[in-house]
Amino acid sequence: YDFLERPLFKWGVCFSGKKTGIMFQDITTLLLDNKAFKHTVDIFVDRYRGMDISVVAGVEARGFMFGTAIALAIGAKFVPLRKPKSCQGRVCFNGEVIAEAYELEYGSDCLEMHVGAVEAGERAIVIDDLVATGGTLSAAIRLLERVGAQVVECGCVIGLRQVKGQRRLNGKPLYILVEPR
Ligand code: IMP
Repeated sequence: YDFLERPLFKWGVCFSGKKTGIMFQDITTLLLDNKAFKHTVDIFVDRYRGMDISVVAGVEARGFMFGTAIALAIGAKFVPLRKPKSCQGRVCFNGEVIAEAYELEYGSDCLEMHVGAVEAGERAIVIDDLVATGGTLSAAIRLLERVGAQVVECGCVIGLRQVKGQRRLNGKPLYILVEPR
């Protein structure tokens, strides 16, 4: 299945411009294509299987979609990194959390992780749908390192090429599947 050889729009990632001038990469159309979705997950699974990864940390919300599938396939636990804003005042987690704030292009956001979800010395990967500035992934790395985990790599389906410095994630390697032109 050679979707990687095709232009992005043909295998499911859409460019929609609801706000004029803003291109939004929408991976939800990729999920509609079972073959393409499975193939996407398999690429990450092939990469991370056998690397002694015990933690797959997924960034809310689209990182959950790929991260859970990868975690199941490589035999690791899935750790959700949640955005408190998405919970809109409801409780995100049952127990104690640690949080890391980060800057966005317009404003700021925060990631939270359950205390006790990850233990010191565990080998982790961080999965998200897309990396732009790398601010979100950097906050995820900080969270995991605060509890003593080793972040082996960050993996994203899409990397926005025009964003400078995206590969400087606190020195951690970043794996990107596709970079839209
Ligand atoms: P960064 O922190 O600047 O690297 O932005 C990455 C975060 O913003 C990820 O959690 C993405 O889900 C989200 N994001 C930014 N732009 C897009 C987009 O065009 N499509 C989907 N998600 C995006």
